[in-house]
Amino acid sequence: MSDPTPKKHGRISAELLQKIKDAVNITDVVGEHVVLRKSGANFSGLCPFHSERSPSFSVTESKQLFYCYGCKKGGDLIGFVTEIYGISFLEAIEDLAERAKIALPSDWNGEDSNDPETQKRRAAAREKTATAYRLNRFAAAFFHSTLSQLPAVEKYFENRGVGSELRRAFYVGAAPAAWDGLASHLVAKKAPLPLAVELGLIQPSQKNAQLSGPGYFDLFRNRAMFPILDTRGKVVGFGGRAMGSASAEKSEGEGPKYLNSKESTVFQKSQLAFGMFQAQKHIREKNEVILVEGYFDVLALHAAGFQNAVATCGTSLTREHLKLFGRFADKVIVLFDGDKAGISATARAMEVGLEAGQILYGAAMPEGLDPDEVLFSQNTGQPKPGGLEQMKTILAAAKPLLDSRIDDAVQYASQGPEQKTVALKQAAQWLVRYTDPVGREIRVQALQNRLGISRQLMNQAMGVTSGAGGRSSSSTPVTPTPRPVAPVPILIHNGLGRSEDILIHALVRLGLNSQPFQRASQNLPKANALWDLFEHPELRDFAEKFQAYTDNPAAAGERNSQLNSLLSTIQDSKARSSITEAIMQEEKTRYSEEEIKIAVDRSLGRLWARFSQQIKIAIAQAEAKKDAGLQAILMKEYLDVQRKLKEFSSFYDEA
Ligand SMILES: [Zn+2]
Repeated sequence: MSDPTPKKHGRISAELLQKIKDAVNITDVVGEHVVLRKSGANFSGLCPFHSERSPSFSVTESKQLFYCYGCKKGGDLIGFVTEIYGISFLEAIEDLAERAKIALPSDWNGEDSNDPETQKRRAAAREKTATAYRLNRFAAAFFHSTLSQLPAVEKYFENRGVGSELRRAFYVGAAPAAWDGLASHLVAKKAPLPLAVELGLIQPSQKNAQLSGPGYFDLFRNRAMFPILDTRGKVVGFGGRAMGSASAEKSEGEGPKYLNSKESTVFQKSQLAFGMFQAQKHIREKNEVILVEGYFDVLALHAAGFQNAVATCGTSLTREHLKLFGRFADKVIVLFDGDKAGISATARAMEVGLEAGQILYGAAMPEGLDPDEVLFSQNTGQPKPGGLEQMKTILAAAKPLLDSRIDDAVQYASQGPEQKTVALKQAAQWLVRYTDPVGREIRVQALQNRLGISRQLMNQAMGVTSGAGGRSSSSTPVTPTPRPVAPVPILIHNGLGRSEDILIHALVRLGLNSQPFQRASQNLPKANALWDLFEHPELRDFAEKFQAYTDNPAAAGERNSQLNSLLSTIQDSKARSSITEAIMQEEKTRYSEEEIKIAVDRSLGRLWARFSQQIKIAIAQAEAKKDAGLQAILMKEYLDVQRKLKEFSSFYDEA
């Protein structure tokens, strides 16, 4: 067959691929995304690729494979990384090599493109991004190690309930008070300083400064440092809380209480949340995000066992944040401080949610307190008596924000006609912003009933409240934007033909030398090999390589690792999943002998049909060239093929 086998392994050798896979345990990587529980010889958890409430996702450590019995997705370590981050095979290799601290070949540019200019440009951009992550991680390591030298900051963390384990898990640190703590360190280690400037870690000092220092000064000074990680665990930036000086409440040049990294290609705070990396699997597990205001609130909640808590990084909630959360959970609980600022930030968050077509939940904090203060004594860092219970109660009482606001408005409306007018206008404003047409209509109808008003008045309120220049009428509401749903649709089947799926099972379990395949080998069209029974080019390739090593008895002992490394080269998710499923279940007889026989026959039939098509084309070509001799030969062959086809025809047309 002319179908080309996709070959996209770049300059990666099988040995290097294996080295990377040997260095990283799939259980560790999956464990960053899924709360895994030991179940027999395997681990299981809630599938990160489809929405489910009981675990059908399984990881086999001995085979280094994952497989979901619900959505049928499966594969090896590389497959998991490509699927979970939505990145390419080459990007996954880069990611894992970095993680395993394995150097890629010098000619590696992670590039499939053949255009040298494009290659160069993309490689340069990627290189810069990779260096930025490395530099940030380097800085994080510096701050983290500085922490132990600054007992005051360490004590500060301790007093706020952040014990040593949590400090390690979040890799928090301390920026020294000196002007050039980090800068000197970066200079000494020959780090790329202009990039460090771009990332907002340091700043060039005024002229002449070289005389006395490194020529750069630190932007984060005398601060408790919080590295901000993306969902892949890369350090993208920092938040730093001023420690204040011992002598004065506010010392010279101290800057704002909270300082963030500069916006850069790797740090876009409207899309990032502090704690997201550590919280992501718990968010998925609980199908719920707890959104708090501060870094310490995140840490306090994690310490108290609410590990699905995150905070925006010194910015108000954006739609990008909601999109990020929506990849992991349906429900967002806003748990902002119980003060004026917290209350108005909650109102803004609610509106961002409404515009995204999403109802956020709100939990009411006790007046004047933040979550950290509810849970931990702010002097000793000890858990507050009853704090945990109180937090549980607060969270359990979380209600859809829009509905509780409407409740408040209805209450207010009962006081008199003027209050009713104000309440109606306010509620109408929220409803106009809410872009989910179904959710909005349900609230509109309920509100009409509760306020005892006509539809006409309701429409008037919704259309007119914003004035002549605003939204013109309720008949043209804001374009509804569907809210983000589960990241991956639930697939009932992995999408390959059933025969092909069965064939892969038979291949992995029995091998090509087994009876069903040997029977087929006597019935193949000439010039075809057994692996041509597979229509999917990657499966065909897999079968061919599999054959090559099963023919070699010396390799039989390494069967599992061979299978695993063959699997690494499969790019297509469906093909990968099908092979994985076969490997995971090979001990079990998933398909009966009869089913396998039928599947082999069907595939044979299809192979003959393809062969028949080819002859037909050849006949037409011979006819066009007026080659009567060739035409006669081909015609005879065609008739032979038709007989063969008939032999398998009852199985041939698979739905
Ligand atoms: Zn699944």
